[in-house]
Amino acid sequence: MTEQRRVIARVIEMATDHPDVEELHRRAAEVDARISISTVYRTVKLFEDAGIIERHDFRDGRARYETVSEEHHDHLIDLRTGRVVEFRHEDIERLQEKIARELGFRLVDHRLELYGVPLDETDKKAR
Ligand SMILES: [Zn+2]
Repeated sequence: MTEQRRVIARVIEMATDHPDVEELHRRAAEVDARISISTVYRTVKLFEDAGIIERHDFRDGRARYETVSEEHHDHLIDLRTGRVVEFRHEDIERLQEKIARELGFRLVDHRLELYGVPLDETDKKAR
């Protein structure tokens, strides 16, 4: 692995906010200014093909990346700010298993994205 790739790998690994390629480039260039955006694109593609990182499409037109983690989680996207909240809920995990089983399948993977806006005071009162 080249030194530049190593820098990009480290930047992705340290990120907790699902950055896109431009943001990854900005962070990598802080470490090594010679790293170009096309190198970041190529490297990200390489890591994705190798199953090291996962690409997400959170409907804002930019592919976002994160390291593939052993601990499964799902995502909730705040439509106002684009902030991504990671969560895991056992009811959802169980329900998905149940649905797959009822359809004659053993579940091996799933992906779930929730899109929302923060509750405002009137919403909170209505609960
Ligand atoms: Zn995530």
